[in-house]
Amino acid sequence: MEIEKIFNNLNILINNSYSPYSNFKVAAIVEGEDEKFYQGVNIENASFGATICAERSAISSCISSGNKSIKNVYLLTNMDRFIYPCGICLQFISEFLDSNGSIYIFTKSKEYKQYKLSELILAPFIKKDLKNE
Ligand SMILES: [Zn+2]
Repeated sequence: MEIEKIFNNLNILINNSYSPYSNFKVAAIVEGEDEKFYQGVNIENASFGATICAERSAISSCISSGNKSIKNVYLLTNMDRFIYPCGICLQFISEFLDSNGSIYIFTKSKEYKQYKLSELILAPFIKKDLKNE
């Protein structure tokens, strides 16, 4: 999907954000290894710790649909500056993002920046860290 269409889809999707407490709206689209696109929004909760970010929401949908990895992540917030994924989401993304995949971050005025995961998280905890070698 071309970048213009992705932005337009994010711009519609962000209206589904459930954010009555912060009014901070986030939409995420991830591309699965099946080359389909999966959507997520942030979903807040009165018990704040139960809140889920848009990135993890979209990735959960992608993985639940049978994918084992994701090709790219696309993010939009309702802010007119670049907002980056939180640490929990960077860790979550690190489990699934292809090594040649990117994270695209949009502002609401359609500017975007493209990052490699390694530019946003220095040393994620990964599978091999669990092995006693
Ligand atoms: Zn997050």
